[in-house]
Amino acid sequence: MNPLFAVPLALLLGALTWSFLEYCIHRWLGHDRRLRGNPFGQEHTRHHSQGDYFAPTHKKLLAALGALLLVLPPSVWVAGPLLGGTYAGGLVAFYLYYEVLHRREHTHAGIGPYGRWARRHHFYHHFVDPSANHGVTSPLWDVVFGTYRAPGVIPVPVKLKMQWLTDPQTGEVHAPFSAWYTLRGRAS
Ligand SMILES: [Zn+2]
Ligand SMILES: [Zn+2]
Repeated sequence: MNPLFAVPLALLLGALTWSFLEYCIHRWLGHDRRLRGNPFGQEHTRHHSQGDYFAPTHKKLLAALGALLLVLPPSVWVAGPLLGGTYAGGLVAFYLYYEVLHRREHTHAGIGPYGRWARRHHFYHHFVDPSANHGVTSPLWDVVFGTYRAPGVIPVPVKLKMQWLTDPQTGEVHAPFSAWYTLRGRAS
């Protein structure tokens, strides 16, 4: 195949593979009771209960490095150094994008339709139904596996609220977000 087509295709396949792993890891390692206690699940439970907790960066980088070492040799073996390397690079690059996006969903208000969509999709998962909307970067696999839910108004517990959601003066939800989020409960 012409490398002009093959390279972008390998990149896309790498990104798609991460997107699938993102769904599987979050849904099953993060939320399936039968797999409770696995290292990702423990960190993820803490992320849900504290809201602003994220697993330490060195753990994530180690996991990414381990995954790269696992994926790269067979990819190169199957598709050659250029396409195999591009595929593995696309997977890791999209993984890093996921990490940045997820963190920013919690720390910063969304920019543009995608940024706002990504937050509503993710905070529906956090605060309404943790068995739905497992995808963070896209709804693709939620749609495929039937776990996609369109978020209505999301009731955010006051003690877990995102900094960007409320006006620090009044403690109320900022006007641009008030159609999509409400506050629930009192700060302890
Ligand atoms: Zn989260
Ligand atoms: Zn979760």
